[in-house]
Amino acid sequence: MIRDLERDEPVAGEHADVCIVGAGAAGIVLAAELARMGKRVLLLEGGGAAIEAASQETYASEVTGLPHRGVHTGRFRAQGGTTTKWGGQILELDASDFAVRDWVSGSGWPFAKSELSPYYERALAMEGLNGVQRSDAKVWQRLGMDEPELGVMVSYLSRWCPEPNFAVLHAETLKGESVLVWLHANVVAMEMEGEAVRGVRCRTLAGREARFTAERFVFCLGAIESSRFFLQPREGGLPWNASGLLGKHFQDHIDCNAAEVKPVKVERFHDFFDNIFLDGYKYHPKMRMPAESARVGKSLNAGATMAFASDADAAMGELKTTARKILRGNVRDVGVGDAWSTVKNLPLLARQAWRYKREHRAYNPADARIMLRVHCEQEPTSASSVSLSGECDALGMLRTRLDWRISDMEQRTILQFAQMAKSALAGLAEVKIDAELLAGDAAFRLRCDDSNHHMGGMRMGAVSSAGVVDKNLRLFGTKNCYVCSSAVFPTSGYSNPTHTILALAVRLAEQLKAG
Ligand SMILES: Cc1cc2nc3c(=O)[nH]c(=O)nc-3n(C[C@H](O)[C@H](O)[C@H](O)COP(=O)(O)OP(=O)(O)OC[C@H]3O[C@@H](n4cnc5c(N)ncnc54)[C@H](O)[C@@H]3O)c2cc1C
Repeated sequence: MIRDLERDEPVAGEHADVCIVGAGAAGIVLAAELARMGKRVLLLEGGGAAIEAASQETYASEVTGLPHRGVHTGRFRAQGGTTTKWGGQILELDASDFAVRDWVSGSGWPFAKSELSPYYERALAMEGLNGVQRSDAKVWQRLGMDEPELGVMVSYLSRWCPEPNFAVLHAETLKGESVLVWLHANVVAMEMEGEAVRGVRCRTLAGREARFTAERFVFCLGAIESSRFFLQPREGGLPWNASGLLGKHFQDHIDCNAAEVKPVKVERFHDFFDNIFLDGYKYHPKMRMPAESARVGKSLNAGATMAFASDADAAMGELKTTARKILRGNVRDVGVGDAWSTVKNLPLLARQAWRYKREHRAYNPADARIMLRVHCEQEPTSASSVSLSGECDALGMLRTRLDWRISDMEQRTILQFAQMAKSALAGLAEVKIDAELLAGDAAFRLRCDDSNHHMGGMRMGAVSSAGVVDKNLRLFGTKNCYVCSSAVFPTSGYSNPTHTILALAVRLAEQLKAG
């Protein structure tokens, strides 16, 4: 059931088993799982049913260190959270991401990957990926191919959610009787009695206030907002920050063009790297460095994709716009220019349709410019951090100050990756490594992008001196408050984070079921 704090009145005495704050990927999945288990769930969302400029403004932040695009353009404060705009690409972390690596300070999760394996499987169902093929080898078999043999590198596939917006995917649960959703309910403070959280205070942007109570509380605010919320000054201090690590070890995936790639065996190259479409699911072929190479090179984990760019992209964009107008019945909006562009691009459309329908592959023209797009893990260092600025937003919350850095080890990893890719692709493609990267020039870092994959700031630790939450996501210094977001990741690997966030969410639901 969906209510709106801007117009509806909370019912006095309503008390939930679990109050979840934040209706993004994690909050919605956790709510759906707990509701299925028969819990009374309250889901408090700061934004409205759709993205609104005034809610987005609460995310305006101060950026120090390297420019970081995603702090402003990679977070969405609305029902569905950032899934309203995300790509929907999912991938498990590698087993080596969970291990202590003695050359990476701060590495090691409080459990091995095997702890998450059953929850990764459940997360697939919650992502609308029940029928997806789990085995990469079987996907290639369906195409009549063996898995690509890439020498010193390892081939792998990521998978894409068919319906990326979780507010749409889980609309039935959100509208149903088992979950009570409050929109425009920005949580601004927690009320505590000793170590127990008794309630949360919410405020709308117009200043209307309400208080909600529950047995247990889970904060699913996204990584940056999690650190920001728990850093806000409060009477009694911050009992969860005995380690001093709150807001520290912020990580993103460094996304960069490390080399230009020119296929020599064009057809084979495209068979290795063009996207795959099977039974309504999209698979994205990629390559990664084996964990053993990272150990030998004392480097981080990294993966990469081939980024194709050609004139066909613009043409396909025009075709899609025209098709959308026709499908929505706006035939009168289809102008002469649209019609001419459609006719002109018909051969391209035919090639695309053939490659998709007959070969189950995306079509990338042979003359496309190809870049080796590396996704590199970041070291969990205190240099990159989320802290607070001196300025408040319209809700009275101190704003975020983000300091994002790229370290020498990270740049060295990207170079090692590019060199290994060059060797792996020998005979298949020529690989020209970026000159600044090759020279070890720090100017290369200014051309690196963040990935909208915000992680760290509230790391999991075995004890309160080593983290901000324990291995079950319970906030240290509290007995009934949990944090579920990529803020808790001790390290970040190179995999898109949301599948792991959701595995943690279904694991947490299982633990909360007992209470
Ligand atoms: C363009 C783009 C592409 C991306 N592509 C991918 C991808 O392909 N694969 C991938 O794994 N990841 C991707 N991501 C990242 C992905 O979107 C996030 O990892 C994911 O949404 C995080 O889920 P979350 O629930 O932790 O946070 P969010 O989805 O951001 O949800 C947090 C929720 O908390 C609410 N909230 C915040 N503060 C408060 C408060 N004080 N009170 C009440 N509510 C509050 C917000 O309104 C929001 O609804 C992408 C991101 C972007 C921007």
